[in-house]
Amino acid sequence: MPISDGFAQRLLPVLGDIVAAYGTPFHIYDARGIVDTYRGMVAAFADEPFREYFAVKALPNPHVLSLLLREGSGLDCASPVELELAERLGATGRDVVFTSNNTARAEYDLALKTGALVTFDDRSFFDKAEILPDTVAFRVSPHGLSAGSALMGDTAHTKFGVPVDQLPDAYRDAQRRGATRFGIHGMTCANELDVRRASRAAVDVIELAAQIADTTGIAFDYLNVGGGLGIPYRPEDEPLDFQDYADAILAARRRCFPGQDGPRILMECGRYVTGPHGVLVASVINRSRKARDIVGVDASMSALMRPGFYGAYHHVTLPFATGRPESEFDVVGALCENMDKFAVDRSLPDPREGDVVLIHDTGAHGHAMGFTYNGRLRPAELLLTEDDDVVEIRRAERFEDYLATIRRQPETVLGAAGRRSRHHEHPSDTRIKGE
Ligand SMILES: *Cc1c(COP(=O)(O)O)cnc(C)c1O
Repeated sequence: MPISDGFAQRLLPVLGDIVAAYGTPFHIYDARGIVDTYRGMVAAFADEPFREYFAVKALPNPHVLSLLLREGSGLDCASPVELELAERLGATGRDVVFTSNNTARAEYDLALKTGALVTFDDRSFFDKAEILPDTVAFRVSPHGLSAGSALMGDTAHTKFGVPVDQLPDAYRDAQRRGATRFGIHGMTCANELDVRRASRAAVDVIELAAQIADTTGIAFDYLNVGGGLGIPYRPEDEPLDFQDYADAILAARRRCFPGQDGPRILMECGRYVTGPHGVLVASVINRSRKARDIVGVDASMSALMRPGFYGAYHHVTLPFATGRPESEFDVVGALCENMDKFAVDRSLPDPREGDVVLIHDTGAHGHAMGFTYNGRLRPAELLLTEDDDVVEIRRAERFEDYLATIRRQPETVLGAAGRRSRHHEHPSDTRIKGE
């Protein structure tokens, strides 16, 4: 949906100047919006023990992560690189959850060394771990409400988590191996906007934890209900009422774990926190007419792959073209792939070359999913700070980034000449002008 009124009121008056001075394309994020959303989540849980661990993969820019860390958020990591980023930002130990899947043992070892809260996605991974974390948590496979959801992968087809019927045994194994503290992880919705369904998915996890506690006698330190809360991408979508969501979780927690010290609630939202607070700014560079009217912009799918990849809707506006007659257009990038379209059959006010185009809701899973196919390199990221400064927090990629991992001289991996020499001149060394 269109960016928030607050973001629009602070961005639009300066957008023309930014575009004139800086050029396009770029993503720009609204620090105030991100912080406000985060604070709203914390406030909804009031004094109950709750912590949000922002899913790094959604927007792995250190400046944005630092902003959230300063507010008290933790970080949810799923790979060694994300763990290292978290560590370098000063997020250590309990500030980090490590929730991955199909994970190599070395990665768990790394996560354990940092003291992160580790979620085991599978019993086989747990069996391989030589050292146990001091709190053992398993991820539960989609179940309950989400068992029938195609988006999360139904129970028969999912690759995530421990099947419900194997969970009690998994926790008993952990007990036998000396674990005394336990958590559970269940992320059972994805981009869910309906608060009743989102709450139901979280309550399913809480109820399951209570059953496991009953059958095994273990006590849970924490219940991690994962991420997956949706944001309104379409103008007609209604935002989810986070207070209702938190209330449902707290009620279930009181009901399932009566007594003074119930388990803490953890979340790993990415999209919900930053998604609405980013926009991709591009310029119209072409207008053409084929079977349909086409507007070509100077960004492509490498800057935002959700529309091409999932057919996801992202709202598109031309902020300085209001009042012109509207008709339907496809908004396209320059990749040699027909799926490189930001919008299809979208009603827009008569776009002209040079017009500024906003592609909304790119604050999560936007730049982060970018790639460099076709040499269409990833664009810059700017931040509208809480003081209304506009700052560059990641420059656009350039030619040297495109070649950054190329060996100037090929490294011999396995030499053919008697398999002896580690280095030898390769007859086809490639010279790149300017290197
Ligand atoms: C992707 C992911 C998240 C974040 O998802 P959002 O849709 O951005 O909230 C959280 N936890 C896990 C395990 C994930 O894979």
